[in-house]
Amino acid sequence: MLKKLIAFAILPTVIAVLIITSGNQQVKISETNLVTIDEFYEIPALPAVDTYGMVMEDYRVVEERIQRNESLYIILSRHGVTRETIHYIQQEASGKVSLNRMRPGQKYRVYINKNGASAFVWHRSAQEYTTITWDDEITVENGTIPVETQIATVSGTIRSSLANAISSQGVSQRLVVELANIYAWTVDFYGLRSGDQFRAVYENRYVNDEYIGIGQIKAAEFEHRGNVLRAYFFHNGEQGGYYDEEGNSMRRAMMRVPFEYNPRISSGFSHNRMHPILNQRRPHYGTDYAAPTGTPILASGDGVVTEAQHRGGNGNIVQIRHNSVYRTAYLHMSRFASGIRPGVRVQQGQVIGYVGQTGLATGPHLCYRLYKNNTPINSVTYDFPPDEGLGDEFMDEYRAEVKRLDEMLDGLLDSSRPLAGLY
Ligand SMILES: [Zn+2]
Repeated sequence: MLKKLIAFAILPTVIAVLIITSGNQQVKISETNLVTIDEFYEIPALPAVDTYGMVMEDYRVVEERIQRNESLYIILSRHGVTRETIHYIQQEASGKVSLNRMRPGQKYRVYINKNGASAFVWHRSAQEYTTITWDDEITVENGTIPVETQIATVSGTIRSSLANAISSQGVSQRLVVELANIYAWTVDFYGLRSGDQFRAVYENRYVNDEYIGIGQIKAAEFEHRGNVLRAYFFHNGEQGGYYDEEGNSMRRAMMRVPFEYNPRISSGFSHNRMHPILNQRRPHYGTDYAAPTGTPILASGDGVVTEAQHRGGNGNIVQIRHNSVYRTAYLHMSRFASGIRPGVRVQQGQVIGYVGQTGLATGPHLCYRLYKNNTPINSVTYDFPPDEGLGDEFMDEYRAEVKRLDEMLDGLLDSSRPLAGLY
């Protein structure tokens, strides 16, 4: 068919001779002009296939969601598939996919042709699916729909909270969590003020044109108490991370707060406070976080456990030596996490124990202490030194990326603030 079309297009003129084969008969044709791209438009399109590789014109498709208490057996039986066929499908699927993992709400498609239902697509997630066919032979294949990303931007002014400022623009709360992670070491999110501003350039992820959530934040800016802090994502080929304009890591070597969430401070660091139980003035070289008994306590940095025992008024205490400069202590624990004992290496963010009120304590809380060169320091106000920055070998590439992202950030207007010209 294709060859005939080309032949038809170039028949009328004579310069060169070529022979092409069409079926089993040879056709002698002459040529003057080259075949132009226009001729190719006459080539019939391939039959349309859908995302799952099924030839559309062969089938009628029913798309539905799995209901409560529905199984493959129930769904296929309803479409007239025999018990025997379903049995063979289940055999063929074994080792490839667990068909009994079907959950209410998951999407599926039944493909129906002249023989009745003959194929089934089960969406295990937005991206992952399994195609089952049984028209002539039974096949079970898993597939993945590629994720498409689009760059999106958001900016705004904080009135009550960052979460409100972002959700008022219809953007996923996931972005709030991700921003909080990027700035965890540099911005006190509990100290944000009305009027603080933010901007972000990030990815939206789509599967089959369906939004499945945000992807990487490429760049962000916080204007916090007059300071502008920009962060840029950079992947050096081995790992990705966030850096400031100069290529310093946005991460700090230590977590400011040894919890997943920031609990209320019931008593701050002080050189002279009234002790609630001893009722006398003495320094409080730690920060007390009020949290329910059993709340997980995290190691605020990588290090080695140097103590895990019950020690008088401190109750159950864990100490960690992080390096030659820093060590931390965690007091009044209800219990230690399993495996936490002297000599054990722990990682930043690892659970080392649980909040309690052992020792001298009026209620469940963690007394968290940070020492720098054996001097107690205030972990809440201390300016932690940054983690390792980008190596010199990446700086040219990084600066080019920063320039590109800066242009995007600079171009962002505060979308929650009316334009002056509109008044
Ligand atoms: Zn304390």
